[in-house]
Amino acid sequence: MTDYPAFAALGISRHRLFRDGQGVTTLVAGYGCPLACRYCINMTCRDPAFRPKRFTPPALYERLCVDYLYFEATNGGVTFGGGEPLLQSPFLRAFIDYVREAGKTWRFAVETSLAVPEENLAPLLPGPGEEPFVREWIVDVKDMNPELYEAYTAKSPALLRHNLEILAARCPDTVTLRLPRIPGFNTDADRDRSEKELRAMGFKNFDRFAYILPEKP
Ligand code: SF4
Repeated sequence: MTDYPAFAALGISRHRLFRDGQGVTTLVAGYGCPLACRYCINMTCRDPAFRPKRFTPPALYERLCVDYLYFEATNGGVTFGGGEPLLQSPFLRAFIDYVREAGKTWRFAVETSLAVPEENLAPLLPGPGEEPFVREWIVDVKDMNPELYEAYTAKSPALLRHNLEILAARCPDTVTLRLPRIPGFNTDADRDRSEKELRAMGFKNFDRFAYILPEKP
C-alpha cells in the first residue's frame, strides 16, 4: 500500500498513562474531522488556516521511537486520535506495517467517531488469520438517539451505525464505547438507552463520563 499522502498531524502528545489505551501511550492527533460537535475541544482540527505538520512513515517512526522502551515495558504504544484519524487510514495501515517490519511490537489504538465511509475502516481490519492491526478501538459514540446525535454533531449517525455493525461483527471485544453525558443534549436515561442498544449489538466495554463545560465569564 504506497498510494497515500503524508500524515497531517495536529499534534503529538507523549507519556500518557492509561488515558488513550493500555500502558504508556503517545497520542498522535490527525488533522481534519467530518463532524462539527457543539462543544468541540479541538476546533483547530477543522480550521482551514491551520498548517498541519506532515509525516511520512519513517519520519513519524523516528519521532515516536524515543519512547519505545516505555511502550515495551508497559505494553503501551501509539494511539491515533484527532480530529478524525480514519480520514487518513491508508497512512495508518502503512505506518503499522512499517513499525512491524522494523521488528517493534507496539500496541496501536484508534480513537474515532466512526463517522467515515466503510472504506476508511477497511485498511485497518485484519483478514482471516491476520494479527489485528488495531488492538483497541475507542469509539466516541456520543448518543445513539439519531435526533440527539444530529443536534450535537450536525451530521447524521448513519456512518457511525454502519461501522459499529462492522466492528460488532469482527472484533467487539477490542472496542470501548464512550458515552458522554452532554449538558443540554442528553440525559442519563438517554445514555442508558444507548448502552442497552449497544450491548444488544454485542459490545460490552463502556466508558461513561460527563462533559464539564467551562464556566461563562
Ligand atoms: S469528533 Fe471530536 S474533533 Fe471532531 S468535531 Fe467532535 S469533538 Fe471536535
